[in-house]
Amino acid sequence: MANGALADALRGAAGRDNVLTEAADRWTYGYDNSRQQALPAAVIFATDAEQVAAVVSVCNERGTPLTARGWGSGTTGATVPSEGGVVLSFERMDAILRTDPANRLMVVQPGVTNQAVQTAAAEHGFFWPPDPTSAAFCSVGGNLAYNSAGPRAVKYGTPRENTLGLRAVTGDASAIRTGVHTTKGVVGYDLTRLIIGSEGTLALTTEATLKLTPVPQARRTMRGVYADMGAAARAVSAIMAQPVVPSTLEFIDGKAIEMIRSHSQADLPEGAGAMLMIAVDGAEACLDQAAAAVSEAARVDGCMGLDMARSHAEVQALWATRKALSPALRQVAPKKINEDVAVPVSRMPELVEGLQGLAHRYGITIVNFGHAGNGNIHVNLLVDPDDPAQMAAAEPCLEAVFDLVLSLEGTLSGEHGIGLVKRAFVAREIEPATLALMRRLKQQFDPNGILNPGKGFPEAG
Ligand SMILES: Cc1cc2nc3c(=O)[nH]c(=O)nc-3n(C[C@H](O)[C@H](O)[C@H](O)COP(=O)(O)OP(=O)(O)OC[C@H]3O[C@@H](n4cnc5c(N)ncnc54)[C@H](O)[C@@H]3O)c2cc1C
Repeated sequence: MANGALADALRGAAGRDNVLTEAADRWTYGYDNSRQQALPAAVIFATDAEQVAAVVSVCNERGTPLTARGWGSGTTGATVPSEGGVVLSFERMDAILRTDPANRLMVVQPGVTNQAVQTAAAEHGFFWPPDPTSAAFCSVGGNLAYNSAGPRAVKYGTPRENTLGLRAVTGDASAIRTGVHTTKGVVGYDLTRLIIGSEGTLALTTEATLKLTPVPQARRTMRGVYADMGAAARAVSAIMAQPVVPSTLEFIDGKAIEMIRSHSQADLPEGAGAMLMIAVDGAEACLDQAAAAVSEAARVDGCMGLDMARSHAEVQALWATRKALSPALRQVAPKKINEDVAVPVSRMPELVEGLQGLAHRYGITIVNFGHAGNGNIHVNLLVDPDDPAQMAAAEPCLEAVFDLVLSLEGTLSGEHGIGLVKRAFVAREIEPATLALMRRLKQQFDPNGILNPGKGFPEAG
């Protein structure tokens, strides 16, 4: 628990009602979806930018670690207070401050959920493109800190492409404003994109100006089934090489199909080795032509069938197969290790083939699915916690997965971030000189290293 002097200073800065010091309350704010947990000394509820700066000031003077928290749905432990100190929860700073359809923007506080933003934007015929599956229970602050996205990223991009500016508080308690309210702007360095994806290690976001996109008039949904992953990957490359950008291009591999088959009534042809879920959106008048171009590209050698949904019910039926995967995985392997690597789209067949080799070598079933249009693959190692041999093989297998990804010019994380769990691997991807520059940048934003210490990249030396 926070010692008396720290607790008093925090109450003075944050307001008595915004500070929790009881152990039962503190435990609740010490975990996230990574299944890691640590006990903070105190939990504070952020209420506004001035109060956030006052809390940071107290922590900065005392060298107390301070970890920002949205809704705690992150999967890599970035919001776990691994070095103790204060957890600053943004869940009560959840207002939508301004919706401005004429300028296609929305100004929000960081604790608002992604879903609340989508609902408010939809009233004006707009949406905010980042679409994590967790939309209903994750915050915009968390989305920005992890640069989180979903299936729409292939066409519409991630938070980095859909945020115009921020207000934030740095580790030395300076309140800063970054970016612009326009869709062009080149004055000064692009601190907005630097802070986005920095996992709360550089600054605490207190306000975000989001760039909105008009809701497309119509959408066509297709499902392609392929004999093997090589054929599906060729289809992905062919789709991405023609001018119509799909709004969704998701894939699942043969192992995932087997799993869906054994745990649901999914309707899939025998011998299916991979599946693509494809959507195109845009103006109704152009959509048949756009869908025809994409489906023509998708019909490569090895395509066993391409179904186009004709009604809402048919769209739901096509997605039902894909949606059956997560429950099936949870049932088969509640303790799976889930990575979210990304490789250039054309290297996906090599990745999947390489992963099959590793599965064989280490005796671990590996199931792959994900956002094929971005080459962003969720690699699931289905480790049986009751099998000591598998548990011993898990770590070396994971290391081999990362080595394979990097050898294909890929990256360790497409959207889930580094947090605590991937920190040890970062130096494999980022060169020493670049890492050293990142550490110097961190020092400029946060001279005493209080913001989310122990996250993002390894210590020097
Ligand atoms: C079922 C499920 C499905 C998911 N699906 C997806 C998906 O499709 N795509 C995807 O990318 N992710 C997905 N996720 C992961 C997770 O939902 C996202 O990473 C999400 O953006 C985290 O938001 P959060 O509010 O829960 O943040 P938290 O987990 O609370 O925090 C995440 C990071 O944000 C920082 N942070 C929070 N608020 C601020 C702030 N105001 N200023 C500075 N830093 C801050 C924290 O310090 C931490 O580093 C999923 C998770 C679950 C459980």
